[in-house]
Amino acid sequence: MNPYYKDYSAYLAERFPGVKVQKISVNAGLGCPNRDGTIGTGGCIYCDNSSFTPAYCMAGDDVAIQLEKGKDFFSHKYPEMKYLAYFQSFTGTYSQGVEELRVLYDKAIAIPDVVGLIIGTRPDTLPDEVIDLLSEINDRLPVIVEIGVETSDNDTLRLINRNHTWSDVVSAVRRLSGRGIDVGVHLIAGLPGENMERTLQSVRDVCRLPISTIKIHQLQVIRGTLLHKAISQGKINIEPYTLEQYLKLCIMIIEEVPRHIAIERFLASAPPQMVVAPQWGIKNYEFVNKLRSILARKNL
Ligand code: SF4
Repeated sequence: MNPYYKDYSAYLAERFPGVKVQKISVNAGLGCPNRDGTIGTGGCIYCDNSSFTPAYCMAGDDVAIQLEKGKDFFSHKYPEMKYLAYFQSFTGTYSQGVEELRVLYDKAIAIPDVVGLIIGTRPDTLPDEVIDLLSEINDRLPVIVEIGVETSDNDTLRLINRNHTWSDVVSAVRRLSGRGIDVGVHLIAGLPGENMERTLQSVRDVCRLPISTIKIHQLQVIRGTLLHKAISQGKINIEPYTLEQYLKLCIMIIEEVPRHIAIERFLASAPPQMVVAPQWGIKNYEFVNKLRSILARKNL
């Protein structure tokens, strides 16, 4: 048990009592409305979806096949493990119609030992009929919706080409939570034009909403993204945090987050060959250990 903040394993233990659960990422090939012109083109300036898609999760494979492959990957070590199908890649609620989503989610639920769904999406891609479907599934087994928020500042959202606003976030979180669906939010620290105080403001803003989890990570400049190009051309200037600065920020974030909200992670870890900056060369568990030893030293 982590005594310093509510971590994700504590949240999962509450949500799935008595069982050990593991996420399996699936790439349902749903695409992204911020790339195909439906909402915007070009995508968010930092985005290279392949940087956070695990190797076992190949687009083109059926969702059921991906889940079976993921189970093979994990079940050798823990045969008693149960699984959460994680629609992580691109926008997990974006489709030609709600029936397409129903078929995909049903395929995932039908896999033995899948005990819940986690669906990553944008706040503006959750029409009422999709929320109705998620609520219907949530009556049978837990559904958690992870919303990409990134920041609560509309100017930054414009700059990074998110093509949604903070009020879209507020509306999506309230409509999901009002139907009893757990909501997680995703934030990025160190976005262009944002200092530590602005990131902390985003943390405070999301914590005022009815959310269950927060995932936050440092901005990573991924090779070949629009962000990388804009920096190379001198159109955007960022000063990536040093590891020490980012640790300090994470301590301040922990102090802001109420204890009923779990902090899922603090570190993005795209494959090192894809990352231009920052290059800290640290693994997630090493980062968490450093963070905990600082918290212990400070007696927080
Ligand atoms: S971060 Fe998400 S919304 Fe933005 S371009 Fe990538 S997949 Fe689309």
